[in-house]
Amino acid sequence: MRFHLNYCVACRQELDRWETLQADLRYLPRHRVPPELALRLRVLLSQRLHRNPLGLLLVHLENGLRPLLLPASAGVLTAIICFGLILGTGVPPVSNIPDVPLRIVTPPRVKELAPINFSAGDQPVVLVTFISAAGRVKDYKVLSGAPSRELTHQLDRILFFSLFQPATTLGKPTDGEVVLSLRRITVRG
Ligand SMILES: [Zn+2]
Repeated sequence: MRFHLNYCVACRQELDRWETLQADLRYLPRHRVPPELALRLRVLLSQRLHRNPLGLLLVHLENGLRPLLLPASAGVLTAIICFGLILGTGVPPVSNIPDVPLRIVTPPRVKELAPINFSAGDQPVVLVTFISAAGRVKDYKVLSGAPSRELTHQLDRILFFSLFQPATTLGKPTDGEVVLSLRRITVRG
């Protein structure tokens, strides 16, 4: 592919376009989905399911989007965290993923973030996190610029004390990676 890209102007331009788009998307302000909208969508979905065979496709789409939704964390921790799965390196946009493999391979998900206060300031910290089959962070890499020593220290503490639901292949836990965008973690109580 790399060889082809060296010689094919059309493909090279297409790739540049995607890379620019990806970089631009990363810096868009994030809007939170109001909870009542999620409920309304669910109601609409179940109505459609009963009269439209295409509804099945929507269920698969919804399953595909589920990793993007904020998991309800129990108790004291309120986390504002955006999942940048779509922005992951080399991961095609959701609309391009055929719905069948979603049930075979699932990405890792955040189960419980370490209860440590964190604020990234204006720009969210985007990082790729390598999750072991046991649900622990093996390693991570900050994608959004070079992290300061203080930020690295904070991220170390948060990530290595957080629990993840590992990726699965055919229902079996495996190593996996997930792109996270951390903005703020507020610990209460
Ligand atoms: Zn080409």
